[in-house]
Amino acid sequence: MADPKGFLKVTERELPPRRPVPVRILDWKEVYEPGDSAVLRRQAGRCMDCGVPFCHKGCPLGNLIPEWNDLMWRGQARSASERLHATNNFPEFTGRLCPAPCESSCVLGINQPAVTIKQVEVSIIEEAFARGWVEPEPPERLTGKTVAVVGSGPAGLAAAQQLTRAGHTVAVFERDDRIGGLLRYGIPDFKMEKRHLEYRLRQMQDEGTRFRAGVEIGRDITWDQLRERYDAVVIATGATVPRDLPIPGRDLAGVHFAMEYLVESNKAVAGDQVPHQISAAGKHVVVIGGGDTGADCIGTAHRQGALSVTNLAIGKQPPAERPDTHPWP
Ligand SMILES: Cc1cc2nc3c(=O)[nH]c(=O)nc-3n(C[C@H](O)[C@H](O)[C@H](O)COP(=O)(O)OP(=O)(O)OC[C@H]3O[C@@H](n4cnc5c(N)ncnc54)[C@H](O)[C@@H]3O)c2cc1C
Repeated sequence: MADPKGFLKVTERELPPRRPVPVRILDWKEVYEPGDSAVLRRQAGRCMDCGVPFCHKGCPLGNLIPEWNDLMWRGQARSASERLHATNNFPEFTGRLCPAPCESSCVLGINQPAVTIKQVEVSIIEEAFARGWVEPEPPERLTGKTVAVVGSGPAGLAAAQQLTRAGHTVAVFERDDRIGGLLRYGIPDFKMEKRHLEYRLRQMQDEGTRFRAGVEIGRDITWDQLRERYDAVVIATGATVPRDLPIPGRDLAGVHFAMEYLVESNKAVAGDQVPHQISAAGKHVVVIGGGDTGADCIGTAHRQGALSVTNLAIGKQPPAERPDTHPWP
């Protein structure tokens, strides 16, 4: 267990500072400053190593959270990185993007703010990258079997990496011009800079995964052809169908789906020429919907120079802190 009295000594959550709003809306770089290792160790030391670690269950990947909290508290970052990668191919993505159901499940949250699990996660992988511990892990022998993965979002990439490491010959097909799915064209750089994606793609290439961008299965190659050419096919095509709002005025000029807007913005930030790009510059913007996608549109509109941004969400305004009437994780 990390520090047995850690949760008694340190009762506050500490996170790295965010770059000031007036500064960060001038560029597309990430919002958070780099973390401080002493703060991180203190936070990792707050983990109680619960007999029933609800955080394991909260995490869809089953991340071994108390184990790597303990290792980080002991200063054993390399072992922490190995335990983290045991359940998670891409902690640099989840450590930045995941809504952290592990933290909502943290038992410490009953009477204290939860352990900063997501921050520990991203710090482990940042240190692993900085120290060169994230290396290609090519298979020792090939099985002779071939697999096509259709879709290059996080699901397709994780499947492809596991299958390649198991010795299969894997090709990832992506209809967009670049690999990455919503990591590339949905999520803006201020939440996750694309260099993190590029680094993993290089690792995967070095392990032997092949990437085929600009190929739509069902159009450029039929599903039957794919099935004939490969021993197995993994479908990881995501869900790109937006939910429309069929109300009067929906068809007016200037009303767009989030993913029309965000894809173009991501392309422009990547340096592409985007003719007639939808831009919020000099406009008053209303974002309908208050989830991750809405938040990305808000941040994008501010960085493009919107005159004002108003967010409309159907739910009640959530409290800033966990309410007293809802103490259980
Ligand atoms: C704007 C936005 C912000 C988000 N922010 C967050 C966040 O902060 N945190 C979080 O946890 N989740 C977030 N999400 C959700 C998260 O991005 C998705 O859950 C995740 O990307 C799903 O991964 P996936 O691999 O299943 O699909 P996707 O990422 O959608 O990838 C599927 C890929 O398959 C390709 N494809 C589809 N059909 C074919 C075909 N026939 N041939 C070839 N290729 C094909 C698509 O072009 C796409 O690139 C966000 C989503 C959006 C839209």
